[in-house]
Amino acid sequence: MLPLRFKDLASISGVQNAYGPSEDEVLHARISARVNALVRKYPELADTRVERSNRDSYDYINNVINVKSRDPDILAHEMEHAASLGTSSSLYKKLLEVSQSAVRINNTFALPAVLALGAAVEDENKKRLLYKTLLGISSVAAAPNLWEEAKASTNVVLDSPDSMSSAAKLLPALAAHAAHDLAGAGVYLGALQLSNHNKARKK
Ligand SMILES: [Zn+2]
Repeated sequence: MLPLRFKDLASISGVQNAYGPSEDEVLHARISARVNALVRKYPELADTRVERSNRDSYDYINNVINVKSRDPDILAHEMEHAASLGTSSSLYKKLLEVSQSAVRINNTFALPAVLALGAAVEDENKKRLLYKTLLGISSVAAAPNLWEEAKASTNVVLDSPDSMSSAAKLLPALAAHAAHDLAGAGVYLGALQLSNHNKARKK
């Protein structure tokens, strides 16, 4: 089979090729209608490759939209990533890559770092300064990734024929994303508040 292009999904047979057969013809018609609108919005991206996968994502290294969920909003969200990243500078892509790996590392090490600092640093003022610094670094590190996600979902909601239902679906996913990306920052914030609380009690 020839590799699928995004514009192929503008027809119902293309949607079937991408996701596999389904009884739900209405849903397939909604997906192809949304693809039509997106091809009009981003004609230069009509040839972006689409592959069936075990998750929905946009692979910006290979410029491929991976599809799993039969959902026009999710497909549109991935297309917005393609529009934002497919044409963006390698610097922006690099920034996202660094942001994603910083979040990964930070989520793993935030708690051990807090425990180690709490044990190693006696001076409460120094401890607070360290927590504040870590909080700042981890929030800034997560920002590019969250910005990209928020931008993609906002565009989908604005373009959607049913903005309310698209928002109801995509915004909780965005919140979950933010909670994940800021988990490390949350640990530092918690440690900082605890330290402030201890300080207030000692007075
Ligand atoms: Zn996304």
